[in-house]
Amino acid sequence: MQDRIIAITGAASGIGRATALLCAERGAHVALMDVDEAGLKLVAQEAERSGVSAATYVCDVRDEDVVAEAFSSARRDLGTPRGLFACAGIDLPGFAHELPAERWQKVIDINLNGSFFASKHMLQGLLDSGLGGSIVLCSSPASFVSFAAGANTAYAASKGAVSALTRTLALDYARYGVRVNAVVPGPTETPLMWMAVPAEDRARLTTTIESEVPLGRLATPREQAHAVLWLLSDDSSFVTGSHLVCDGGVLAKASISV
Ligand code: NAD
Repeated sequence: MQDRIIAITGAASGIGRATALLCAERGAHVALMDVDEAGLKLVAQEAERSGVSAATYVCDVRDEDVVAEAFSSARRDLGTPRGLFACAGIDLPGFAHELPAERWQKVIDINLNGSFFASKHMLQGLLDSGLGGSIVLCSSPASFVSFAAGANTAYAASKGAVSALTRTLALDYARYGVRVNAVVPGPTETPLMWMAVPAEDRARLTTTIESEVPLGRLATPREQAHAVLWLLSDDSSFVTGSHLVCDGGVLAKASISV
């Protein structure tokens, strides 16, 4: 990863933040994109302690013009990114019969359209420069199984589409030396996990989740970052169109192989 340039959306928190810091520790310069400006600045300061450059771009992945501008600024500031982790994502649960259209649309716009816009503008830079690269999208076990708690309507649909996008981009761009894979994080201790959960319910929910995970615990963001790092790096040079499942055994328990 030494002196590689890696772009990360959703870099201000959770799995995106942990990946940015791990890439920086391994010598990569990082282009950090998120809507959370204050969070971005903190991650950049932390990344720079590893002696690399970290540039921040306030970027709502729902807006293609803003994403395009962030990638062209990153190319100008750091050079052409050779790796992308499209990690920005949200979860707004709700049962289908009462799910407001705006709630559905917001999840699709961020999780799916955001992954598409980031991939598109990353690919344009790679094709213009004739460089190969690695794109990692962020799927979820929800792409493959339903959870007992239910109400995962928009999130599951968005992540299922991200998985399909991963495979189709992998086939379209293999000839250009661009690999496209997805990471499948299991339950991971991040702010997203708790977004819609009242504080008093968290301990009970943690116990429930842990009982559903064969390894018996939540993952740390850093554990997910190691999986992403492998896909971004040349260590995975013959891997494309794949899902790297880092879920503590959740899909294996459901007898799903990806
Ligand atoms: P998180 O909430 O800690 O981080 C998500 C980041 O995305 C935040 O920094 C947020 O500001 C950013 N973001 C939200 N909307 C955005 C937008 N419109 N434009 C740009 N940035 C935006 O969550 P996390 O758990 O680290 O989630 C990261 C990814 O991992 C998501 O795609 C999520 O679906 C996926 N994932 C998480 C888990 C889990 O258990 N935490 C499990 C499976 C998949």
